[in-house]
This record gives sequence, C-alpha cells and structure tokens, in this order.
Amino acid sequence: MAYSSGTAPLTRSGEGGNPGLQVGGPGVEDTGMLRALHDRLATALPEGRHLPEEVWHRRHRAVLWVAAAQAAGLGVMALLTGRTPLTAVLLAVAVACPLTFAALPGSGRGLRSAAATASLLAASVTLVYLMEGLTEAHFHFFVMIGLAALYQNWVPFGMALIVVLGHHGLVGTLFPHAVFGHGSAQHAPWTWALVHGVFVLAASLAHLAAWRLNEQQGLRDPLTGLANRTLLLETTGRMLARRAGPTSVLFLDLDDFKDVNDSRGHAVGDQLLTTVSRRLQGCVRSVDQVARLGGDEFAVVVAGSARTAAEVGERALSALADPVVIDGRAIHVRVSIGVADSTTAADRSAGTLLRNADLAMYLAKSAGKNRVVVYAEGMERAAQVKAELISDLDSAVAGGQLTVHYQPTVELTGGSTTGYEALLRWQHPTRGLVPPMEFIPLAEESGAIVEIGRWVLTEATRQAAQWSREAGRRIDVAVNLSPRQLVDDDVVSTVRTALDASGLPAGQLTLEVTEGVLIDDVEAVVDTLRALRTLGVRIAIDDFGTGYSSLSYLRRLPADVVKIDRSFVQDLGSGGRSTTLVASIIELARSLHLEVVAEGVETEEQHAVLERLACSHAQGYLFGRPQPADVHGIAAPVSVPLPRPGTPVTVTP
Ligand code: C2E
Ligand code: MG
Ligand code: MG
Repeated sequence: MAYSSGTAPLTRSGEGGNPGLQVGGPGVEDTGMLRALHDRLATALPEGRHLPEEVWHRRHRAVLWVAAAQAAGLGVMALLTGRTPLTAVLLAVAVACPLTFAALPGSGRGLRSAAATASLLAASVTLVYLMEGLTEAHFHFFVMIGLAALYQNWVPFGMALIVVLGHHGLVGTLFPHAVFGHGSAQHAPWTWALVHGVFVLAASLAHLAAWRLNEQQGLRDPLTGLANRTLLLETTGRMLARRAGPTSVLFLDLDDFKDVNDSRGHAVGDQLLTTVSRRLQGCVRSVDQVARLGGDEFAVVVAGSARTAAEVGERALSALADPVVIDGRAIHVRVSIGVADSTTAADRSAGTLLRNADLAMYLAKSAGKNRVVVYAEGMERAAQVKAELISDLDSAVAGGQLTVHYQPTVELTGGSTTGYEALLRWQHPTRGLVPPMEFIPLAEESGAIVEIGRWVLTEATRQAAQWSREAGRRIDVAVNLSPRQLVDDDVVSTVRTALDASGLPAGQLTLEVTEGVLIDDVEAVVDTLRALRTLGVRIAIDDFGTGYSSLSYLRRLPADVVKIDRSFVQDLGSGGRSTTLVASIIELARSLHLEVVAEGVETEEQHAVLERLACSHAQGYLFGRPQPADVHGIAAPVSVPLPRPGTPVTVTP
C-alpha cells in the first residue's frame, strides 16, 4: 500500500518529479535525457566498489601465478619456435617485468592490479607475435580480459580494452605480420583492430554483467531486494559527508514476528516480510533508502531531521496498520520504531546513528511496542536499567520478591465487595517497589511473564479459596492475563491446575485480558478463551475503550465482563463527553448480557454518576486501594473508608 498524504513528496521519482524542471526549452530536455541516460548507465554498469580485502588478495595471487607461468612458458615457446636464446629471455623478461610492481606489498591495489594486467596482456601480445598473427592466438586476449575482470575494478579492465585496440591498430599498422596472420587484415589493420575490438567488447559485456551482479549480491537482501546493512551504512555515510543539514535513521523491528513464524511457518513469515518491505518503500521519498538489516529488522535513512524521520515512522505505522492477508487469514503487523538524527549523535558516523536508533527502538518496545521513539541523550542509561531489570526478573519469583496485592470490586447498588483483583507487586532488593507498568512489559518481552503469570494464578486462586472458606461465602478473584501467556503457555492446563490445587470453583475466577491479545493469531486466541470458559472461568475485557478496535473485539472475544477504562471514569461529572460514552458502553454491555465494572473510581461524584447510569460494579481508590492479602483478611478487616456517609458497605470477608 502506498501512503500518499503528507507534505513531503513521496513519489518514487522524488525530486526528479518536480514539474518546475519541465518548464525549460529543448536544452533542458537534452539535459534531462542525458541525465536519464547517465542514470540508466549508472544502474546497469558496475560501480567499481572495492572487493573485500581477503577476496582481492586471493584473486590477485591467482593472477600472479598465471602471469609468472606464462612468462616462463613463452620463453620456452620462443626457443621451440626457433628464436635465439637471447630473444627468448628478453620476451620472458618483458612479460614478467610488470610483476615486480604487481608483487610490491606496500603499493596500492590500483597499481598492483594494473601491473598484473600489463603482464597478462604482454603475454597475449608475445603469443600473437610468436605465432605470427595466427587468428587462434588472438583468443588468448579474451582469456586475459576475463582474468583482468576478476579484479572488479575499472583500471585493469579499461587498460585491457585500450591495449587490445592499441595493439591491433598501432602495432598492426607498424608491424602487420606481428599481429595479423591473414593478408586482408595486414592491409587494413585499423579495420581489423575494430573488428577484434567489437568482439572483445561483446565478451566484456558478459564480464560486466557478472561483475555488476556480484556487487549487487553483496549489497542487497535476497528476499526483499532492499538494501542490506552494508549498503545502508554506505548511503548513510555518504549523506552525512555531503549534506550540511541533519541526516536521520529509523530502526524498525516487527513486534512478535517470531510468533508468526512459529504459528504460520517460515514461508508465510517470508511473505509477510516482503509485504512489509513494499509498504515501507511506499512511505519514503526517493532520496531516502529502506534497508532490511536481517530477520524482522528494517532501517530507513532519511535526508532530514529527527522530526521528518518521526513523520516517516508515523506513516510506516499507519501503512502497516492494515492487516496483511496471507492464505485467507489476516495477520496484524505491529512495529516498534526508533529514530535518531545526526544532531544528537556523539560523532557524525553511520554506525553511531544506527546504534542510537536501535536503542530508541529498544525503548519503544519496552514502552508498549507499536510506536515511534526518538533518541535522546541519556537513553543508554535507561536501556541499561532495562537490561538489568530483565535479568533481575529471572530470579524474582524464586527469590520471593513478588507479592500479590488485592483490590476490591464492589457492587454499586448494595455496596458489598464481590471479589478482588489480583495485582502484582515487585519488591526489588535494591530499587524498592517497581510498579507493574514498568516491569510487566519487560517480563512480556523476555518471556518471564509465563512463569510469573503461572505463579500469580496459583497464589490468587489459593488466596480466594482460603477467603471463601473463612468467610463461608464465595469470594471471587480476578487475575490479569498477558497476551504472551495466551500464546506461549498452555494456559488452559495452567488454569485447571491452579483451580484443582486451590479447590476454588472455576466460576469464582475471572481472567482479565486486554485488546493486546488480539494482535496475533486471533482465531487461536479466541479458541483458547473459549476453552477457558468451558472450564467455567469468566473472561473480562480490561481497559475497555482504550483500543482503536474496541467495538470489533467486543464482537469477537468471548467475554462475560467489560471493565470500563479509568480514563473515562476519571472525567465523569466534569461535563465532558465521558458521561455519554460511559452510558453507551453500559447500555451496549447490557444488551450483550455482559457485566460492567467501572475502573478507577476515586470520587463521590464519579460514584454518583455511575449509580445514576445503573453501572453494576466498580473498582477504585474510593472503595479500596490494592493491599496485601492480610489487610483484607478476616484477621485484619479492611481499613478503607466507607464510600459514602450513610451508605451501608459490607466489606467481606
Ligand atoms: P489493570 O488490570 O487495569 O489494573 C488496574 C490498575 O489501576 C492497577 O494499577 C490499580 O492499582 C489501578 N487503580 C485502581 N483503582 C484506581 C484508582 O482509583 N485510581 C488510580 N489512579 N488507579 C487505580 P497497577 O496495580 O499499577 O497495575 C497496572 C497494570 O499492570 C494493570 O492494569 C495490569 O494491566 C497490569 N498487571 C498488574 N498485575 C498483573 C499481573 O499479575 N499480570 C499481568 N499480566 N498484568 C498485571
Ligand atoms: Mg486488570
Ligand atoms: Mg484496567
């Protein structure tokens, strides 16, 4: 899908598409044609980029061996064809002589490859001379040009072409018998030099094509055809060197791509990557470059500031928001994007820019994914803290650092507590209390949430069963489930095990999920939720109203409870639209036979509005903050204030 709004020109022709260029007369057109021709040639011909050091040395060694063997062989041949020993030695020396430069270790590649090529061509000239211009001896030139082409460098290659033409034309005119074996060529040496030259050029085209292909293979990603890391770094380096203004890099990493590969297979994964690459290309101008760095990582270099790059990032988010349909099934693509520009980099190097953008991407992931984060100084420290927290999380369960706090849910009409939501707390040995919004995304990312989530389930069901026994009536409990638990864990058997071990009836357990569970394989998630409901467990949709697709997932998710997000409740009574919205959600839920819980009730006013709207249940600081289990227990009755003077509130157990 090509994104086409916004102020920046997004066409692939980019600045070349500026209509102002077409105003001029024929001269302008000529320039345009010349430029087009130049561009065509530039894309068809090799760039003449440097071969990797090791490859160049291997090829150069091979050429030197061939050249040396030819020098010796031609000396012997001179003797065999009746030349004097002196002539034989002189010829061999003439062929071998350039090799002294070719083997000079301190000199540059250009000189050494040119010297080796000179020896190769001297061998061809000598052979043609020794065979008195025999046509078959000329084939040797073809072989030598092929060898010179191995350097993938215009100097030896161009030299080879010039020598062939010069030798045939010039030497052919002065000493026709030394070059041509037949009469017609001896009479018109330049014509025959041209004929030979055309053949040589034709053969050279094949070498050029192979050379160009070789270059491209080292610079392109074979799956998507995008630039690879090497080319991206080169382009970025060039932009940094040539542009006075800022240059930016975006680092993009698909969220949870591994799950697509695992659940739908690598072929589908590859198709997805190809589609993503096409959509990304639709978001940039021709002056910018999109690259695939490997796996599910992409990068874009943008000629502009971090602000321009962030706009490109936003465009990428919306271009990828449309689900990708492969084999009739939709895949929701989400991507975390980091942006860095040259003004915040310690040095103007491509590597630093890419590293900073990578770091910003890393923080985009931990901030909840599917977003753009712009690099700022100090992010290294934040990333380090994050990495340390992730590693500390591994030992948090075993180290007994995790606890569960419980927050009551009350029935608005009677005011009685019907149950509690289990909310995880981490008492870090050195950092103190770490809030769940900080460490749960990290646990999600590292996968630790699967084990942690299992522990919370075991703990919360055990606690609810104990409370119910002690109170002699049902006390329900709600436990939050992460998307990753639904995908990675056999959550149905985990829940069954927790219920069996605690003895809590399934009907007393509610599992809370957010829209986040619908990111990946919707069908699989819906199946799992159905299986959980078959156990008798209730499903609640948490933070309802915050996701852009709330209504559509309400239709798809098998649910029993809707929890209206705190952000709506907080505005109740302030005269805004929230009251209308909350009223509609309550009405909608009622028509779908769903129970409604309003989250985050803090004031009397909010309470009163909710009662007026006939909301059945609520949760919030007004009724009770999340507290350790013993605070709510029979031994220590709930210490929270009554919600309203005069309203009887039965806080149980
Ligand atoms: P949530 O499930 O929506 O939980 C409600 C959050 O709102 C809790 O934050 C709670 O302390 C807070 N809250 C409740 N009443 C009020 C109020 O009146 N005012 C305000 N300002 N806040 C209120 P908490 O405990 O920080 O948890 C944050 C989120 O972390 C939870 O949101 C939930 O998504 C996640 N979380 C907590 N425990 C777990 C867990 O065991 N597993 C998973 N996967 N996620 C958890
Ligand atoms: Mg919740
Ligand atoms: Mg919530």
